[in-house]
Amino acid sequence: MIVVMNPDASKDDVSRITDKLKRMGYGVHLSIGERRTIIGVIGQRREEAAQALEAMSQVERVVFITRPFKLAGREFHPDDTVINLGHTTIGGSELIVMAGPCAVEGEAQLMEAANTVKEAGAQVFRAGAFKPRTSPYSFQGLEIKGLEYLDRVRSETGLLIVTEVMDQFTVSEVAACADILQVGARNMQNYFLLRELGRIRKPVLLKRGLSATVEEWLMAAEYILNGGNYEVILCERGIRTFEPYTRNTLDLSAVPLVKQLSPLPVIVDPSHGTGHSSLVPAMSKAAVAAGADGLMIEVHPNPEEALSDGPQSLNPAQFKTLIRDLKGVALNAGRLL
Ligand code: PEP
Ligand code: MN
Repeated sequence: MIVVMNPDASKDDVSRITDKLKRMGYGVHLSIGERRTIIGVIGQRREEAAQALEAMSQVERVVFITRPFKLAGREFHPDDTVINLGHTTIGGSELIVMAGPCAVEGEAQLMEAANTVKEAGAQVFRAGAFKPRTSPYSFQGLEIKGLEYLDRVRSETGLLIVTEVMDQFTVSEVAACADILQVGARNMQNYFLLRELGRIRKPVLLKRGLSATVEEWLMAAEYILNGGNYEVILCERGIRTFEPYTRNTLDLSAVPLVKQLSPLPVIVDPSHGTGHSSLVPAMSKAAVAAGADGLMIEVHPNPEEALSDGPQSLNPAQFKTLIRDLKGVALNAGRLL
């Protein structure tokens, strides 16, 4: 349930109630909005507890949440979640662009890609050091060495870094390098990993699973939020359908839908969503028009030689053109780029 406090309730009133709820065995999460504080109460539904709370003068009302996701829903957190990262915000009026190669392949390739995306105007650099590959015979990623190269990108370019973490055992290593930790589609329901990410205090980018419903995706986010890490960015990257002409089917209807259901920022990855670089510009513009808070785009200095996902990667010239063309779309959608 959620406890909606009166607009004039003081901090002390809120702590008195949260202490009482904790003594009763409930998990408590606060959402401090501009107008009022909402207390998210996790635990067994008890009518008498709700009635006792409602009788308190500082409490405006108590509402039972019927949806399975609680902390990831708008009822608990009506205002958009805005994540502050240095000079950048995610989920506010800024359109965030995360770009870079699929994988860290080497130091020279990485620095070249980073300089390209920075010059074009991206705020966040993406590249996987740990790679979840479908085949064990494909390039598996440079792992820890790759994180070292990403460190160099951050210190030399000032770009923020998003990179994938594949299991709960490497969260601290990845968190030491990344500004945002990425959970890949294949790991969306790795609950040990999600629980560990709930314990850290860094933003997590949670990709939608290959065949995940919107509700399953939001429940995965709920695991991270329930650990006390409220900075989750959702990433629509296409789902599996019967259509073989595209790698996945990019579900752009998920953008306005999830934004209705949840306050969390939503970004779109048209590279994995389509699998073809020629489809990336149109779907990027469509995503922004649909209300996405940002994009994640694969860019490689030389896509023909990429060790992974070359066919869906833009080359530097294509990426520059896309960013230029996106500015107008962003403006129309009320976003700054
Ligand atoms: C990636 O971002 O390179 C990646 C592996 O994406 P996904 O988990 O969406 O397949
Ligand atoms: Mn990729």
